[in-house]
Amino acid sequence: MSEVKTKCPNCFSENQCFEESTEHFTSYICFKCGFTSNSYYKNDTEELKKAVESSTQLMNEISLFDYDRKITWFPSVLNMGKFGIIYPDGTKNNWVWKFAQVTKLTEEEQKDPQYEGHEHKLDVDNAQSYGQHEFMNACKDMGIIKE
Ligand SMILES: [Zn+2]
Repeated sequence: MSEVKTKCPNCFSENQCFEESTEHFTSYICFKCGFTSNSYYKNDTEELKKAVESSTQLMNEISLFDYDRKITWFPSVLNMGKFGIIYPDGTKNNWVWKFAQVTKLTEEEQKDPQYEGHEHKLDVDNAQSYGQHEFMNACKDMGIIKE
């Protein structure tokens, strides 16, 4: 397995976009703009069809066809369990990265039927926002990437 820097087709970063290859598979992620893809996401593949189906409307609207590699890139959704989740939010022409943390419910909240049986919630109401090229800052705030 090898990891090399590559040029991002979305934000054109050359030092924050990485390509990781095994013999038959290559994946890509850019930590500047948060877009990701892999060598299975060629047109008319099952893998691309599944990716489209599991993506939100916004993710599909801002997805991008990479003419050099002939694959489609999507914005990432990073779900790191207790660390929270990073996801794109907004509309096609006005979207941001959001980082929502997992917080412990207060005793009052735990009595609320909508949280029944849970001790934690994903705090989307207080999610932090980041610019489209600040994906790395969201990852740092989440604590999954160190300087
Ligand atoms: Zn990028």
